[in-house]
Amino acid sequence: MRWKEISIKTLRQAPRDEESINARLLIQAGFINKLGAGIYTFLPLGLRVLEKIENITRGEMNNAGGVEFLMPSLHPAENWQTTGRWESFDALFKTKSNFGREYALGPTHEEIIYPLLRHSISSYKELPISFYQIQTKFRDEKRAKSGLMRCREFRMKDLYSFHSSSEDRDRYYEIMRKAYLKIFKILGLDVIETRASGGTFSELSQEFQVITSSGEDTVYYCPKCKNGINKEVYSGNKKCAECHGDLKEGQAVEVGNIFPLKPKFSEDFNLTFKDKEGKEKLVEAGCYGLGTSRVMGTIAEIYNDASGLIWPKSVAPFSVHLISLANNSKIRSIAEKAYKKMLDAGVDVLYDDRDVSAGEKFADTDLIGIPFRAVISEKTGNKIEMKKRGAKSAELVKLEEVIKKTK
Ligand code: ATP
Ligand code: MG
Repeated sequence: MRWKEISIKTLRQAPRDEESINARLLIQAGFINKLGAGIYTFLPLGLRVLEKIENITRGEMNNAGGVEFLMPSLHPAENWQTTGRWESFDALFKTKSNFGREYALGPTHEEIIYPLLRHSISSYKELPISFYQIQTKFRDEKRAKSGLMRCREFRMKDLYSFHSSSEDRDRYYEIMRKAYLKIFKILGLDVIETRASGGTFSELSQEFQVITSSGEDTVYYCPKCKNGINKEVYSGNKKCAECHGDLKEGQAVEVGNIFPLKPKFSEDFNLTFKDKEGKEKLVEAGCYGLGTSRVMGTIAEIYNDASGLIWPKSVAPFSVHLISLANNSKIRSIAEKAYKKMLDAGVDVLYDDRDVSAGEKFADTDLIGIPFRAVISEKTGNKIEMKKRGAKSAELVKLEEVIKKTK
């Protein structure tokens, strides 16, 4: 894609009104735009990253037997009154229609999926089932100062699984846990599996935390075994449950959270099924959240240097950033041909063909952080100067080599 086609607008300086590294970099590099505190537009460049994160997540949810669907964001107040969370959910955005009815803007979807399934589950034969969606969520967060890490409107994948016994739910929990580990590995995030209470492995429910100084949570963690405990709930000893080594204390951001759902929701919405003996029982359920836009902020927070972003290949908006550094027709035509050949070969290339200075183009490539930079100039002759983002030196290679490395 050409620079102009994707309509990128980078800024000379990071915005003054942002404190967090992820928001400063993502705004400066033209990935997102701030509308208000905790509310951002995903610009074309940013949407490409978000979609990659969401597609990786989608792929692993499908592999784990999840079925995708989409619930509404606008929830009738009655659903939330049924569970009592109309009053007790602190961050619930409430809105009143001009015609008198009240609604919540969905922060999570238990209140919608339970009554939905009441119509389709009646026997153990219909269980287990596992539904997920990737959707915009709304939460009235008190503090929204961490860019994409804590928004009032954000993106989340939420999966809900339903089972005829707690044993079956626990079996599925393990499948999901492994799917999460795989997703974060592909995303380039080193996660700590944080048990919510006490760090005992028998207790299901855990957060996936990424260690970063900008994180809002404090965790005690074992850097070797990648497990830990959230400080908020913990008062026991600070030894690793696996290797018994000392736990370190650090700041972390929660990128995912998986836990069994309380029987409360099945009771409130009367979600029951008939077991093999014909006995009526409450459905057991698990909930699996993953903040896809928070993941984008977390990656930006971790993968950067003084010049800008450094995207992992799996989520980079493009795989190579091609720039031509001369305004004469000869160089331009070499670059045009190289660009077309890359496109034909199926390379995901961003081509900066603007009439601006070399300095400006280089600064923008570093700021945007695509994994490879490919330069065509007076000096490169019939070759291309290729450099990995973040590497010190470049090498002169043939076009075929660029294609091979970036396809
Ligand atoms: P936190 O403790 O950080 O507020 P939470 O426990 O409220 O998170 P969940 O309700 O479990 O989060 O939501 C699932 C996932 O959605 C979280 O793990 C996180 O990745 C993401 N998430 C939650 N709140 C926000 C937010 N305000 N902005 C962006 N992502 C969020
Ligand atoms: Mg929260």
